[in-house]
Amino acid sequence: MSIVTDKISRRTMLAATAAGGLLTTATLAQAQKSDPIANGRGGTNPGPMNPSRIAQNPDLMVPPNTDAGSLPNLRFSFDDAHIRLSAGGWTRQVTARELGVSKDIAGVIMRLNAGGVRELHWHKAAEWAYVLYGKARITAVDANGHNFVDDVGAGDLWYFPPGIPHSIQGLDPDGTEFLLVFDDGDFDEDNTFLLSDFLKHTPPEVLAKNFGVPASSLANVPDPSALYMFPAPVPGPLGADKIAGAVEVLQSFSHRMMAQAPIKMKHGTARITDSSVFQASKTIAAALVEVEPGAMRELHWHPNTNEWQYYIQGQARMGVFAASGAARTFDFQANDVGYVPFAMGHYIENTGNTTLRYLEVFKSDHFADVSLNQWLALTPPELVRASLRVDSQFLHALRREKSPVVPA
Ligand code: MN
Ligand code: MN
Repeated sequence: MSIVTDKISRRTMLAATAAGGLLTTATLAQAQKSDPIANGRGGTNPGPMNPSRIAQNPDLMVPPNTDAGSLPNLRFSFDDAHIRLSAGGWTRQVTARELGVSKDIAGVIMRLNAGGVRELHWHKAAEWAYVLYGKARITAVDANGHNFVDDVGAGDLWYFPPGIPHSIQGLDPDGTEFLLVFDDGDFDEDNTFLLSDFLKHTPPEVLAKNFGVPASSLANVPDPSALYMFPAPVPGPLGADKIAGAVEVLQSFSHRMMAQAPIKMKHGTARITDSSVFQASKTIAAALVEVEPGAMRELHWHPNTNEWQYYIQGQARMGVFAASGAARTFDFQANDVGYVPFAMGHYIENTGNTTLRYLEVFKSDHFADVSLNQWLALTPPELVRASLRVDSQFLHALRREKSPVVPA
């Protein structure tokens, strides 16, 4: 069964179950035509269509009745983004140019083949990373002359403060792929300060004077276009790359997120990493959330800033409440970016049949969320009853303890 058919049949089976009927050839045929019809409203869809995109966005085709008003686009897939190919790997980005609402955060997915080097460089934005695959060696030197060299693997993070020069190299056996998050939506991966670019645009006699060598020593520096991501031999053991006698940075630029004990719930987990546990990460806070099929990241919002998301595995739908009667529902697949503007209420439901795994990322030194359930549990019950006309069962079911993920 193809992915497309699988997603259509899920919706069709839900509809058939709701109608108390069986899955007939007729209902399946109707769903595969993807007509935007629900509850006697809408109409057939006789014009052009893109079935695979329709299948990925069931809540755009037939929105829940609670959707209303206008919201900005809150979803963009890395698989809809241009890829820059290099000899050492590839890179692609989702910035404010692709996802207009994301003024504060830009994302990059980068692949480095074994030995492939992302050239020594720096930039104005801070760089936070989550390793998706494989192993990498990362290096940096800070303004105090303290250095940093480490190896990272899947689930590890790094953070390079603004302006701090660094490098990344893929290791054996198959290099690495990672997500980069920059604390500036207008960041451009093609617009960083490259070591080779700096040297190419400094007069040779100045370089000679700076390094105290004849100009000929630097005559063979490659053109920056050849160096941005380039192949190189896979480096030896980490110990051999440690600079003898150098003083290490006071706060590590790497962090083992998967070594953190998760908040464990019956149908999910959450790992929260902000500057309280990863001290170097002053401008980016994150949560890695796992939600089992049918379960849901509970209704909540964030009192500090916007939320930028990266979907690692599974499929989901997110409803976003924007105040003033406006709300919209978006569907997500692996490799999608999602976004929730500051303070808007939202939930994220696992609509697939595998574990949903995604990152919540914030331009902040700390993670914070307000749980709707906890808010009401800690509000005088009679006030809640008078406000919502709820029964005792509702009041008794409220939880004083946060449960980021709630069961199906
Ligand atoms: Mn960088
Ligand atoms: Mn959230």
